[in-house]
Amino acid sequence: MKKIFAVLSIFFISFLTSINVYGGDIVRIGLERAYKNVSQISVNDSAVRVGIGDNNKYSINLGAYVIKPVGNTYYNTEEYKDTYEQAAALLPEYRGTNCITALTDKGWTVYVRADSAKLDKPIVKTGPYCVGFAVNGTYKFIVDGSSACRIMAEDGIISLGENTYRGDIEFYRQGSVMTAVNVLEKEKYLYGVVTSEMPSSWPMEALKAQAVAAGTYVEKNKERHVGYELCDTVHCQAYYGTQKESESGRKAVNETAGKELYYNGEPIDAVYFSSDGGATFNSEDVWSSATPYLKAVKDTYEKESREWTRTFTYQELTNICAANGYGIGNVVAVTAEYTPEGLVSSLTFKGSKGNKTIIKDAIRSAFHPSSEGSLLSRNFRIIGGTQTEGDKVYVIGTEGQKTTEYTSVSAQNGEGKQGKIGNKFVIMDNNSSETVVAAVTTVGTPGTVTLQGKGYGHGAGMSQYGAKAMAEEGYSYTDILKFYYKDVEIK
Ligand SMILES: [Zn+2]
Repeated sequence: MKKIFAVLSIFFISFLTSINVYGGDIVRIGLERAYKNVSQISVNDSAVRVGIGDNNKYSINLGAYVIKPVGNTYYNTEEYKDTYEQAAALLPEYRGTNCITALTDKGWTVYVRADSAKLDKPIVKTGPYCVGFAVNGTYKFIVDGSSACRIMAEDGIISLGENTYRGDIEFYRQGSVMTAVNVLEKEKYLYGVVTSEMPSSWPMEALKAQAVAAGTYVEKNKERHVGYELCDTVHCQAYYGTQKESESGRKAVNETAGKELYYNGEPIDAVYFSSDGGATFNSEDVWSSATPYLKAVKDTYEKESREWTRTFTYQELTNICAANGYGIGNVVAVTAEYTPEGLVSSLTFKGSKGNKTIIKDAIRSAFHPSSEGSLLSRNFRIIGGTQTEGDKVYVIGTEGQKTTEYTSVSAQNGEGKQGKIGNKFVIMDNNSSETVVAAVTTVGTPGTVTLQGKGYGHGAGMSQYGAKAMAEEGYSYTDILKFYYKDVEIK
């Protein structure tokens, strides 16, 4: 691909006097966060270059623009001109008609609305890419080409509403709505990604690891969308244009320029996430398939793990299971199984009409119907997990559910104190001093289940907080990447 770009660039420089000359690989980023399927987009720069596809940019300086999808039937006067001004100068000839300057594949011309005149000229129906540029509420010109309209600011940074972007903006139109697509060099895109994904104050080696992971991620994930390659949300990679760029982020990108992660000669799927809380997953424990370089690692570096707690009543758990269509009636208990690294590998809801076990990343999303949404991570312990029913108490441990008379149960708390269930007690594993299932909430009232967790994210690949901790301990970005991605090459 790189070779083809190089050849095309030379061609454009030589013959088409295009100013759109790129040094490296080009990426197409759908600006979904602010401009997905919108009916209009505001451009605050007055001096812009306008074109069709990736060449032939025409300088225009009319004021701030509002760009909208437009469609109509026109006569094409076919008096093609090289500039907007030359074509606009023809408009008085068509006084009394509804006419407008139009940029087409063949250059600038004047379009006359077919319902406002009768001309001996070919009739054209505007195409699927046609957009109109309005200044102060009046359309100044339309762009009606065989591919999407593209603009850039004369100073190289374009302002769309509140946002600013390097490179070009293309309007990916679908009927009456359109999505803004930022077309720019990959390194410039990474300037925006690195410190959108990671604070600019973090150590340089962590930022460099992030830059290489983000750059490699691009290579492997270019087909996630239609109309553009990646979006600007965390669905792909967070990207805020120039707003979250920083000196340190640009330095990290520049110092790792062209470096990518490979396994068996192929770019890897360099997935990453915020915080692992102490261990990562095998990819097959998160998604469907096993990936040789996405292996569980016990993470002894990460220090500032995100901690979280979620408490549910049994009624809330029953509602969640009902919303998910599990059909298990009233939830009476929740139990978990763990990976060797101590992460939740399966979660079982025990209900009055049956049980439901869920695995992989669906464990997090199972909680989506709840008020706070999906779980932040699968690195958690279950506290509670018991439910009273009349004078019975259910205790759920590693061996499953045990039922006994309420009055005959006693338990020991964390300080070794024994007593009847009825207060808060911690249930201990026979073999260790660790809390296994923890504790029983007040008997006699409907109990709650608390999930106490660490970490944030899907858990496969690189932990960003882990990368930070490794960098603080003096590890290099290559050490960091090789710790989280197994047996990869960096080149
Ligand atoms: Zn996406």
